[in-house]
This record gives sequence, structure tokens and C-alpha cells, in this order.
Amino acid sequence: MTIAVDFDGTIVEHAYPAIGKELPFATATLRQLIKDGHQLILWSVREGKLLEEAVKWCEERGVHFYAVNQDLGEDDLNMQDKRFYSRKLKVQMFIDDRNLGGLPDWGVIYQVIARKITFEQYYAEQFSEEKPRKKSRWSLFG
Ligand SMILES: [Mg+2]
Repeated sequence: MTIAVDFDGTIVEHAYPAIGKELPFATATLRQLIKDGHQLILWSVREGKLLEEAVKWCEERGVHFYAVNQDLGEDDLNMQDKRFYSRKLKVQMFIDDRNLGGLPDWGVIYQVIARKITFEQYYAEQFSEEKPRKKSRWSLFG
């Protein structure tokens, strides 16, 4: 799956133009999603030096994006056919703190993506009286 991921307020706390503190389990989740075979696109309002700083911050934590603020990886750019160019990202999912309903915990995000379930299914499991929670919502990859 191709997933667009926002930076400020999503991977790190809002401190723009500075880089805020990492939100719990954000980079661990992103590393695992890459390991699981997903293509991640950094989708940020940042440009120029501020964007470079965010990319570097992520790379230092082992999060290497397939593309940054565009659909295509650097290797694919020459193949881009301008006639069919649309500015809308061709992704299956956006992870953004501006989502309707806000940003779930990264542990929840991982469970929903990895298990291909809806938030409704996830929360039904968590709060079902017949099936008590076995794992903490913070246990990301188990
Ligand atoms: Mg944001």
C-alpha cells in the first residue's frame, strides 16, 4: 500500500518551524510499515531547508521515504507523463493529524493497517466485554 504521512503534529509534536518531540512509537511504526512492504510518502507543508531537516530527522531514525511531497520516487520522475499529471497524491491512505477525528495513537494506526481492519473493528475488540483486551494498545507489533 502507498501511504502519505504528514510530519508536524503527526510524526512529531507541533513545533513548526522547529522539529517537535517525536510522538510515541511514530518512527518505530513507520520503520515497521516499510519493513512490511508499504511505500511511504512524506507529505508535508515544509519546503526547502525545513523540508530537508524533516527528511534528515526521519532518515537518522531509519525512516526512508519512497518519495517526498510527490507521488514518484526520484528514479520514476523521468517516466512521468505530464498529460496525465494530477497534483493529487495517488495513495491508498493518508496519516495526518488533520484527519477527521484527529490522529489515533501510532499503535492503533499500525494495527489498523497491518490487520486490514477498520477503526470500528479495532475499538470493538478493545472494548468488547466478551473478549477482554489481552494486549496493551501500546504493544505495537505483537
Ligand atoms: Mg500536521
